[in-house]
Amino acid sequence: MDSNYNMSFNTGFNPNAPPFSSRMTPPMLALRDAFANVDDVTAWNHCLGLRRLNNIPPMANDLADHIIVVCLDCEHWSENTDETTEIGFGTFKTQDLRPFVQSGNFGDHAENLMKQIRFYLLRTIPHSHLPKTNPNSRGVEGNRFGQARFATFTEARSILGNVFIQPIKNVASLRSQNHPIVVLGQDITHDRDNLKDKDVAFDVNGMGTVIRYIDTQVLAGEAGFWNHRNEKVGLRSLVQRLWFQHSDPHTAANDVGRTLISAFQLALINHPCKKLENVTKSMLQVADGIEAHSRATFQSLGGSAQYCWKCGSREHMIANCRATGLRCEECWSKGRFQEAGTHITLHCMWRAQEKAQARRAHHEEQRRRAGAQPRRSYRGRGQNYQGYSIIRNLPPGDFTTWYLTHANLPPSHRPPSGGRGGDGWASTGRGSWTGYGRGRGDGGGRGDGRGRGGHGRGGSSSGW
Ligand SMILES: [Zn+2]
Ligand SMILES: [Zn+2]
Repeated sequence: MDSNYNMSFNTGFNPNAPPFSSRMTPPMLALRDAFANVDDVTAWNHCLGLRRLNNIPPMANDLADHIIVVCLDCEHWSENTDETTEIGFGTFKTQDLRPFVQSGNFGDHAENLMKQIRFYLLRTIPHSHLPKTNPNSRGVEGNRFGQARFATFTEARSILGNVFIQPIKNVASLRSQNHPIVVLGQDITHDRDNLKDKDVAFDVNGMGTVIRYIDTQVLAGEAGFWNHRNEKVGLRSLVQRLWFQHSDPHTAANDVGRTLISAFQLALINHPCKKLENVTKSMLQVADGIEAHSRATFQSLGGSAQYCWKCGSREHMIANCRATGLRCEECWSKGRFQEAGTHITLHCMWRAQEKAQARRAHHEEQRRRAGAQPRRSYRGRGQNYQGYSIIRNLPPGDFTTWYLTHANLPPSHRPPSGGRGGDGWASTGRGSWTGYGRGRGDGGGRGDGRGRGGHGRGGSSSGW
């Protein structure tokens, strides 16, 4: 090994340089160090094949042409952000852009380049029953990039492992080398840490392939596109300023899609492919086209297209569930005998709410001990939390009713007409939950038919 690369232990000066990994080969370390010396724009231009990095050591020269970019985003349940619900990623090889870059055939707004990106959305099975809580969002059903696949945490780790460790094929000089990975994201350290520290427990830095992080917030600043020194650009603002739309935000693959499209546009902001006189399509048309193209050309990396978070089957969605004889041990042990027959233990909404509440209480206690004023709402959204978001969206009272009326229970288990609704919740003695039970009565409950459809229960709304 070249002794120079012992210096790699100390290259902490660039926050976007991944830490030293003993799994990295010497050429990979050399490439990582070369990338540590440049800003995000320069690194990104290399990834797109637009302008090659000029300080690449000879031992990494061939490797530098085979970068794979992976753009990442994770989503969590808003009631308990410990629970990762979605992992979105988009990925492309620099080599796949090369023919278009070399021929100058970028397409309007770099459409031909962006069509080389493949998009994926993983929905984590253990958290697939956790409902979205924003009434203005379609949640994961609003995905527009690639297709969603349900995956266990183990499957998700395996799929991500296959994305981050890809042997280079068909290049004699690089036999037994892996593709170097550049990780792109909006506020990317956040997503990297979430992947590692929460349920998925996937360590991006541990793969021995990640040579660089690029953040679109930094990219926007360096590209001269965002000049507010003390404020980082949000994805919505970025997308707006680039003249396309961030519809159905906060769905992991949508955020990934818009982050990637933004990053391409930032790199090419003054390129002829964006000049009015050269284009026939608008930026918005191109962005919409990328969405459609990504869905039509999707190829699964694993997981199942369907999953039922009532019975645990991968053969159907919950709207088509015909399972009988289910038993949630959690509900059973707490005397919720009727409810226990409506779902399997893994997908107990009651337990999820208890965990969320315990977490809120824990954090509130920590705040109290730190001498902070108690918050009116743990989530800092005050009125939203107290008076709007959850109550109107998916009150557990409604959830009970829904389960009991849609769970194909034997007649003896079915609720009396009208369901139990909030009353059932009030009677559990969990005072703080009873507020949810009132949700249906305040005119908010009915308004969420769209939201429920958003959870794959579309066909069932007539049952209300
Ligand atoms: Zn089922
Ligand atoms: Zn249960």
